[in-house]
Amino acid sequence: MARFILLLTFSFFSSSGLYTISFGGIEFDVVQNGESNRRYIWLHGDEQTARMALERHMKTNKGKAFLVTGIVRESEFFGGLIDPNRIFSSKGAKANIQKYNHKWSRAKKEETLEIINKDRGPFLEKVFPNNGGLIVALHNNFKGYNVKKELDKSDAVSIKKDQNPRDFFICTNRADFDILSKSPFNVVLQESLPKKDDGSLSWAAVRHGVRYVNIETRLGWLSQQTKMLNYIEKNLP
Ligand SMILES: [Zn+2]
Repeated sequence: MARFILLLTFSFFSSSGLYTISFGGIEFDVVQNGESNRRYIWLHGDEQTARMALERHMKTNKGKAFLVTGIVRESEFFGGLIDPNRIFSSKGAKANIQKYNHKWSRAKKEETLEIINKDRGPFLEKVFPNNGGLIVALHNNFKGYNVKKELDKSDAVSIKKDQNPRDFFICTNRADFDILSKSPFNVVLQESLPKKDDGSLSWAAVRHGVRYVNIETRLGWLSQQTKMLNYIEKNLP
């Protein structure tokens, strides 16, 4: 009987979460373990290594996690598509609605942008930690993208010779950077807003003065992403 209950509990936490919240119709499962202002977010449904790393982490570490419910990169959006990590600014959302739904009428584009702009504040209110807490985003990359593409947007960098350039941290807080630069892993600091805000969550964190770390690793490299996640857990306040 005890074993049965245990199994039920695990499946409850790993698949459905406690409840869902939505942002512009994009649904997120909320998973919570104990009381802590540590927050986690997983935004791209096709980045399954990051989901596995996060779900496993939440079983033994305190905090609250937000997991997108889709299994593809772009989310269903009023009958069209949108990249969930390009809607955290009005400019970014507008460009993204246009990119994926260029056949929509001007009225539908404006209407859906308005919904996203109205939802953003309340969503970030739920997702961002308070009292100087940290939010950790988990992403995976495919061929092509690596830390070198982030250098011109970065205020400080620490690149390690023996690390794959596709595995790295992006952080928004200088004190966090100072700690992470002493880690075995690549890290860049992005604390100043770029000329072109593409609507990603990291720039919203900068605007709100929230400590944010993105753990970016190659898709499939679960052990690497888990190591980086554990490093943050042990070393960042
Ligand atoms: Zn991603």
